Amino acid sequence: MTDRILVTGGAGFIGTHLCKRLLADGHEVICLDNFYTGRRANVRPFLEHPRFELVRHDVIEPVRLEVTQIYHLACPASPVHYQANAIQTVKTSVLGTLNMLGLAKRVGARFLLASTSEVYGDPLVHPQREDYWGNVNPIGPRSCYDEGKRVAETLTMDYHRQHHVDVRIVRIFNTYGPNMLENDGRVVSNFICQALREQPLTIYGDGSQTRSFCYVDDLVDGMVRMMRADDFIGPVNLGNPSEFTVVELAHKVLAMTNSASSIVHRPLPENDPQRRRPDITLAGKRLAWSPAVPLDVGLEKTIAYFRAALAQAASGAAS
Ligand code: NAD
Ligand code: UDP
Ligand code: UDP
Repeated sequence: MTDRILVTGGAGFIGTHLCKRLLADGHEVICLDNFYTGRRANVRPFLEHPRFELVRHDVIEPVRLEVTQIYHLACPASPVHYQANAIQTVKTSVLGTLNMLGLAKRVGARFLLASTSEVYGDPLVHPQREDYWGNVNPIGPRSCYDEGKRVAETLTMDYHRQHHVDVRIVRIFNTYGPNMLENDGRVVSNFICQALREQPLTIYGDGSQTRSFCYVDDLVDGMVRMMRADDFIGPVNLGNPSEFTVVELAHKVLAMTNSASSIVHRPLPENDPQRRRPDITLAGKRLAWSPAVPLDVGLEKTIAYFRAALAQAASGAAS
């Protein structure tokens, strides 16, 4: 069946890949974005598509649209960007999610919230399962994002219980791939761009902290499965359980780019989680989902993307 699908944050990194997948599946897609961290160039390939529509709008403000499904992704995801205007980040998560749930309620749409592993904070349980309630500082520099998403989950469940809105919650772990911005600020894009520019790779702290990196195609597949799932609202973890230290990631990127860049250390940001790895047993059981793309393969594709993007930017600057 063809659905009319709203993707908020659709011009961002994950949103772009999701729009592409939904168009390929034959759906009508309305991409709504305020272009805070999204880029028009990301959606340019879809602009002529007969089933694609682009709406410039801030989810903090109400909006009336007629849709059958809502993927709610609007929210900056990189610590650099979500901390640059922390109050806007809280408003986006709280008021933005409220508005999208109000819309879902009015039109009877199924609503999927893009939540995050950050709801677990700096976790005291490892790996993280969905029934862990987390260890989040409510007043630190990351709180605008972490607590914002926790309230977004609360609102989602309250609209489900109180108004019977058909909801889904996915908790996304670190995801990477093509279409990240060069200045996104997250570790994979930073390391790749630094290596390709022969600039020093900036490791925050001693680099012993870990993350588990999921390639974007795997993530999008998990999101679509969750939207289609019947009788399962989550929350469900979506991520790749292969865990790496930041130092290991730096060396991998240096080797794969053949870069002569050095490594420099910078202060560890406050409340930076020390370890993170998803337990994806639930996604396996309920969605028959697990990631297929290993880090080396995903990095290869991401490096190729940034090589081309940086070359294009350089030739643009030269002309
Ligand atoms: P991104 O920053 O690339 O994309 C976010 C998009 O939302 C951008 O296009 C931005 O312009 C838009 N946006 C921000 N505030 C908005 C507002 N008020 N109104 C309308 N649009 C707004 O980030 P991403 O990595 O694509 O993340 C997408 C979603 O997935 C976010 O909700 C994020 O919290 C979640 N997530 C991502 C990751 C990850 O590793 N990429 C991990 C956990 C959760
Ligand atoms: N909302 C929206 N689009 C709609 C329906 C609602 O943006 O199509 C907003 C609405 O303006 C409100 C929020 O969603 O700010 C919550 O709506 P709801 O109807 O649940 O609550 P109420 O309007 O009664 O406070
Ligand atoms: N990090 C780093 N150098 C960078 C950017 C990030 O060492 O240039 C570290 C950061 O401190 C964190 C990890 O890499 O421990 C992942 O950071 P990212 O911003 O990608 O995501 P998050 O902290 O939200 O998981």
